Amino acid sequence: MHLTYRDKMNNAVVLYDFYKKLQRIISKPRKIEAFWPSEASADYYERETETIRTIGKCQRAIFYSQHNVIPTTANGYLSIKRMKLGDLVEANEIHYGHLMSTKILSQIPLQIKYDNIVINGKIDEIVFDNLRSLYDLIEHKSGYGWNFEKDIIAGGTYKPEHAMQIGLYIYGGKFQNLLAPFGIEANQIGTSVILYTSRGNCENADDVIVDVEQVGITHQIKVYARRKIKKGKDNPIEIKDTVDHLINIENIFTKCKHIYDCSVKGVLPENDFAAEWNKTYLNSMLKRKKISDADKLNISSEKKIPWQCSYCQYHEMCIKNEYPKTLEEYQKEATVRMEDIKISYKDQYGIDLQDIDNVLPESKDAVSTTE
Ligand code: SF4
Repeated sequence: MHLTYRDKMNNAVVLYDFYKKLQRIISKPRKIEAFWPSEASADYYERETETIRTIGKCQRAIFYSQHNVIPTTANGYLSIKRMKLGDLVEANEIHYGHLMSTKILSQIPLQIKYDNIVINGKIDEIVFDNLRSLYDLIEHKSGYGWNFEKDIIAGGTYKPEHAMQIGLYIYGGKFQNLLAPFGIEANQIGTSVILYTSRGNCENADDVIVDVEQVGITHQIKVYARRKIKKGKDNPIEIKDTVDHLINIENIFTKCKHIYDCSVKGVLPENDFAAEWNKTYLNSMLKRKKISDADKLNISSEKKIPWQCSYCQYHEMCIKNEYPKTLEEYQKEATVRMEDIKISYKDQYGIDLQDIDNVLPESKDAVSTTE
């Protein structure tokens, strides 16, 4: 069962392939002790506001994803295209790296272990510096828009989530010697850099250096940033070097362990960002009969809906504190779910999705945007 629509060139674009997702779940269920670096979360001390907030992926969203919950909403076609464009830009940057460097490794897999928890990741790039005889780790990130170009490309700032990701790789390489199979010992690891690329003007920024240091029995991700602050006509830019002790590696694993424990006990983990859902959003959910008055009363706030929830494919289950169903239950309600996705897509993007099984039985001429 596919949901699709015709693009401007009259190509059928498969937005959501329900059975493919089900087949994947049946053939390869996810392990509850295994995570991806992009699923990491941590308590982060924000120096500007002097507050601690959660960064990274919401614990409940990871739990739903691990339990193969069939999403109740589909990702927007544009956001899927942007994501794929980001992958292409990053692959292109790695390609340029290969042209310019004599010794470079890319997409290095590593498994970082902590008790029974495993984080499976891939380092984008490792470059050998002949002068220092050290290997530098590089994490590629791309973005677009005025804010990205102003704050990150021109301003020298960074997203702590990105530092968390490369921090995990540094920890794996330096403290678990995970790069030894690739001929890189822990003491040969040099600098680690987040290399940002703008998808708008193709400019790069490499002002953010990340390291991990042992502090007592813990390991902290440390970030050296060169923030460029505009100061007016005579002194247009002031460089402000900062060192942030941001994120504790053990804290990341504790959060993964908590999600694992919730699975073992059969309870839902916390919905990290739902406390900030706003009334407009809740009212629209109420109008579409997605929630009851009682649900709305449980979580009600005046604040703006956080971006994590606005992109989350599970919010209609999350708001009702629904526990993941069994695969059989999902199979039974497949049609209802597809209808939900159609309504949600129409609401959000004004596009009518069609069920195209009859039109394209094999979907051979269709462009797939999702799994
Ligand atoms: S809707 Fe928000 S709080 Fe709920 S699972 Fe998704 S990200 Fe977490």
